[in-house]
Amino acid sequence: MPLTPEQQAEIDDQRASPRQTLRSVSEGMEKHLYSAIPVLDHGFVRVIDYMGDDAAICQAARVSYGRGTKSVQNDEGLIRYLMRHWHSTPFEMCEVKLHVKLPVFVARQWIRHRTANVNEYSARYSILDREFYIPAREALAAQSSVNNQGRGGGLSDEEAARVLDILKGDAARCYDHYEEMISDEGQAGLARELARMNLPANIYTQWYWKVDLHNLMHFLRLRADAHAQYEIRVYADAICQVVADWVPFAWKAFEDYRMGAVTFSAQMMDCLRRMLAGEEVTAENAGMSAREWREFEAALRG
Ligand SMILES: Cc1cc2nc3c(=O)[nH]c(=O)nc-3n(C[C@H](O)[C@H](O)[C@H](O)COP(=O)(O)OP(=O)(O)OC[C@H]3O[C@@H](n4cnc5c(N)ncnc54)[C@H](O)[C@@H]3O)c2cc1C
Repeated sequence: MPLTPEQQAEIDDQRASPRQTLRSVSEGMEKHLYSAIPVLDHGFVRVIDYMGDDAAICQAARVSYGRGTKSVQNDEGLIRYLMRHWHSTPFEMCEVKLHVKLPVFVARQWIRHRTANVNEYSARYSILDREFYIPAREALAAQSSVNNQGRGGGLSDEEAARVLDILKGDAARCYDHYEEMISDEGQAGLARELARMNLPANIYTQWYWKVDLHNLMHFLRLRADAHAQYEIRVYADAICQVVADWVPFAWKAFEDYRMGAVTFSAQMMDCLRRMLAGEEVTAENAGMSAREWREFEAALRG
């Protein structure tokens, strides 16, 4: 179960006592507040708090435009203009604080995003739960032969069963030893901060993660992308749902100008112009590396 009974009781309690506020509120985000979105086998993402909405982005942008620059009147149009022109600071006016439960190896990728504030569950202070990420059968795949940093085809049923047995067995054994080492039945067991080193990277940790919308979108562009590892991508996908409901105009602009957009280099633009003028441009006369040419072709194919 992703949430403990205590965490669920806390959420129910918070949702049962709404308060009036003078702050601006995003109706779409209110429905997510406190509710946990399940991710992987024991993980979740839940919104603890947020600040701002689409209007807050426009309000901040209009301050920086000053009086007299009212050509972009409509909020959605303004947000699309800001996104298109990389005018990013107004998006930093919105913030979100998430509670995330995730395997340690996913946390290691996630923490590379430095532009957030983090508070992690302390395995020095507390005993970690016996909860390990064991991939679903369909998430098991062989090493890719074309991409060193990725997965290829699926595993046979026999191979998948062997791998799952190893993962489950190792997790259980390591946790048994962890418990044995910290045993606190009347005797001073090994310190928790030392005993935890025996635990595998698929054990779950938890943290609060607070980030502004600009940096969150940067995170989502990288981690909701097909190149990101599946296990972090499913968290990013869950957060995408939240952002779409929280700031619908900003989300649409982000989908159009970041997620669905492609950047062309100067050489690629040159090739494109030559193609539009009717010239036959090939890998040989394109003036770019073979890899870049393949990326260019892939972008044109869509
Ligand atoms: C598909 C994929 C594969 C990856 N593979 C690897 C890998 O093999 N090995 C590895 O080590 N990492 C890897 N990474 C991590 C990657 O290199 C980045 O560390 C990670 O994506 C965080 O990006 P960021 O620094 O842009 O984000 P943030 O830390 O959130 O920073 C956001 C932006 O703020 C600015 N910024 C923040 N801090 C600084 C600073 N100190 N100095 C200057 N500018 C700053 C930069 O403009 C940065 O883009 C991978 C990431 C992805 C998505």
